[in-house]
Amino acid sequence: MSTAEHASLHLTRAELVHPDGRRIRLYGNPGASTPALPPGLPQLEPTALHLRCDALTGDWVAVSPSRNRRPLTHASAGATTAAAAPACPLCPGGPELPFPYEAAVFDNRFPSLIPDAPAPPDGPDGLIAASTGRCEVVCYTSQHTGSVATLHPEQVARVVAIWRDRTGALLEDPRIAAVLPFENRGEEVGATLSHPHGQLYAFDRLPPITARRVAALRRHRETADGCLSCRLVGIDAAAPERAVRDAEHFTVAVPYAARWPYEVHIRARRHGASRLTDLHPEEQTELALLLQDVVRRYDALYGFELPYLCTVQQAPRAPGAEDWHLSIELLPPHRGPETLKVRASVETATGAFINDTLPEASAAQLAELPIHAPPIAAYAAPGIHP
Ligand SMILES: [Zn+2]
Ligand SMILES: [Zn+2]
Repeated sequence: MSTAEHASLHLTRAELVHPDGRRIRLYGNPGASTPALPPGLPQLEPTALHLRCDALTGDWVAVSPSRNRRPLTHASAGATTAAAAPACPLCPGGPELPFPYEAAVFDNRFPSLIPDAPAPPDGPDGLIAASTGRCEVVCYTSQHTGSVATLHPEQVARVVAIWRDRTGALLEDPRIAAVLPFENRGEEVGATLSHPHGQLYAFDRLPPITARRVAALRRHRETADGCLSCRLVGIDAAAPERAVRDAEHFTVAVPYAARWPYEVHIRARRHGASRLTDLHPEEQTELALLLQDVVRRYDALYGFELPYLCTVQQAPRAPGAEDWHLSIELLPPHRGPETLKVRASVETATGAFINDTLPEASAAQLAELPIHAPPIAAYAAPGIHP
């Protein structure tokens, strides 16, 4: 292993507080100095965030009136080239990170959930609540162009290490029930900035689908005396026709009941690997390389950067969540090179999905794509030392 690879085994974390109170965490190689924030940065406007409950479903909606002022670079500038970089709020020297950095996490300027949420306005009993939680932005690199597919594998491993670090830190807050790292890639799925980045939401209550998953785990444990996630791993492991590639610690497959044509789930095989913070170093390394592998397949599918939704689904803090197995779930909206699957009337109003492709056929298509996959043994998961 070279010196460079040894150096990647450890990341340092430095924390700064923006004059408006938001926190910035910088992740980098040991020896990198911590920059100072310049004076005169703009203050945040007060927000009117709150949660409203849909009485018919019990689902909460975060009402976030400031979000339509979010920044745009690529759509308005019409470019994702270096020429557009000065306008990008995530580039070094921009308003969010006004100094050089390697990777960073900062509190979202346009949050839907905040740690010290204002008291909600008056509303119907039981149907209004404070919008408590956290919304963070994760900058994968200071480079303006690129993606999970084109980053160096060590940079992708650093992203996974940062997700893990933030998951552990956010769950130390007893008010936080669930932590969701995610990435929306592409204008088609609402990404307003092309700089390689993702986000992280920390919820003070279980989001609806998370709650349904925990209920299913608990029901299976009570009625079938076993772990439903272990069963799911077994079902995927016994179906090579849905496998996208082989891996030691995770199954990588188009799920049995895929809702989207090219949906792929990367799921931990090991019972007990429920959150990022449960992963052994070799599992963490493999997870990063598998994520990059799947995104490279997506980009090879039609020869352009396939837009996708990517979520890291990990166990919330809830009774029955012990049977959760960590998964990264990728949902690209494309069903062909020029056609998108639209979440239209039936899907949106009823939650019942219609998939016009056979999961086995999509899996075979993705599995056969010739991509360059680096050997997993060549990389190590970075540990983070503040
Ligand atoms: Zn940028
Ligand atoms: Zn299990």
